Amino acid sequence: MSNDIKTQVVILGAGPGGYSAAFRAADLGLDVVLVESRKTLGGVCLNVGCIPSKALLHVAKVIDDAAAMASHGVTFGKPEIDLDKIRSWKDSVTAQLTGGLSGMAKSRKVTTVYGYGKFTSDKTIVVEGNDGETTTISFDNAIIAAGSSVVNLPFIPTDDPRVIDSTGALELKDVPAEMLVLGGGIIGLEMGTVYKALGSNVSVVEFADQLVPAADKDIVRIYTNYNKKKFNIMLSTKVVAVEAKDDGLYVTFEGKKAPSDPVRYDKILVAVGRKPNGHLVAADKAGVNVDERGFINVSKELRTNVPHIFAIGDVVGQPMLAHKAVHEAHVAAEVISGKKHTFEPRCIPSIAYTDPEMAWVGVTEAEAKEQGLNIEVANFPWAASGRAIASARTEGKTKMIFEKETGRVLGGAIVGINAGELLGEICLAVEMGADAEDLALTIHAHPTLNESIGLAAEIFEGSITDLP
Ligand code: FAD
Repeated sequence: MSNDIKTQVVILGAGPGGYSAAFRAADLGLDVVLVESRKTLGGVCLNVGCIPSKALLHVAKVIDDAAAMASHGVTFGKPEIDLDKIRSWKDSVTAQLTGGLSGMAKSRKVTTVYGYGKFTSDKTIVVEGNDGETTTISFDNAIIAAGSSVVNLPFIPTDDPRVIDSTGALELKDVPAEMLVLGGGIIGLEMGTVYKALGSNVSVVEFADQLVPAADKDIVRIYTNYNKKKFNIMLSTKVVAVEAKDDGLYVTFEGKKAPSDPVRYDKILVAVGRKPNGHLVAADKAGVNVDERGFINVSKELRTNVPHIFAIGDVVGQPMLAHKAVHEAHVAAEVISGKKHTFEPRCIPSIAYTDPEMAWVGVTEAEAKEQGLNIEVANFPWAASGRAIASARTEGKTKMIFEKETGRVLGGAIVGINAGELLGEICLAVEMGADAEDLALTIHAHPTLNESIGLAAEIFEGSITDLP
């Protein structure tokens, strides 16, 4: 059977980009159709990304915090892990949020079509429905919000159930005794944190000379030192071959920390990045240019080279983050509705929800040097924070990057517990063009970790000099 729909706006993909665009466009009075190939709304982020990973990281944190209490006089028993219950708790978290989205779509009268959509011209999309029905959608405007997919490596078997990607890791089928995380980026480290807390021995191999290469070295060094006993970390090392045998996956490494013989693992998590889905929507039929990697180039209004077709989220470029997709979505929907708006943020925060967390925003120190900016860096070590000492987590630090002449906040990074939550103040400072004096004169509550931001500003101002 075939249906025909005519709409002002059709959106391909219902991740954070797609659903945010749909809701904003509907709130602005537009007629909206949202097309999604999954059974639920929410895209990668809600179904197999941000949210389920944080649900499992919450479990890991409680396990780790409970174990750490032994040195403060409270000993809990060995945790009893019930994987089925953990899994169903995680699934209930995602179901609550994806279900909430479909309620929000209904209340806004957004039409949802479940199936895979492809352009057939610059005015039509055909959706092969999950229910076997075909829907032809004629549109005035389209937004491509097709997201990204995991990258596989050619020399690693993808048909072996012992080789998993982030989606497989979130399924939590078992807790392997020996696990290799291939790729020391944010996703690999977050999932490694979960499996380590649940009982796996976790090794991490990273080709670069530091984990999370996008963050400043001094921030990552603190994370790495804190975790060097927890994980076997192999930097400047790469996997060159994987042999699947009955008793395990034998991995051959090359590089600085490469073991001389192949090492046996029960599971390998491949976390080497994500590729944009630009090539999967038949964009050429609409005349939309897609580069060879799958990215779609857009203007500040999020228009592709075809002015009534927009693109947002992971498919338009780095950083591939949910909050970037949401803000782009709002701009695209508002431009379609006739408002004047552009996507020109001063900063987009990045957070690794690891233990300790690493969070940074604005310019990093390395980027500032590359760009020849005249900066001054102020570091506040958490060894001097009453709250960090009382929480027995003094490894962290708050680092602020100021423009030397004016004191304007250009960026900042935090490594330590709750770094992700603490980063918000620095984001606001960068976006609003605040300077060190604004932060130093703001009364931060005591004792909080958040004080460290004001104190770093005082260091820049020269009013604190006697740090440990
Ligand atoms: P997506 O969320 O990828 O959604 C695109 C949707 O479009 C998908 O559901 C797809 O099925 C659908 N689709 C694609 N093509 C079609 C088509 N032709 N027809 C119909 N439907 C289609 N980001 C953060 O900011 N914070 C985090 O903590 C975080 N954690 C993550 C953890 C993991 C394990 C992973 C994998 C990612 C994480 N991310 C995180 C990244 C985040 O998930 C993405 O940046 C975000 O989901 C991108 O949103 P999007 O709308 O561009 O696309």
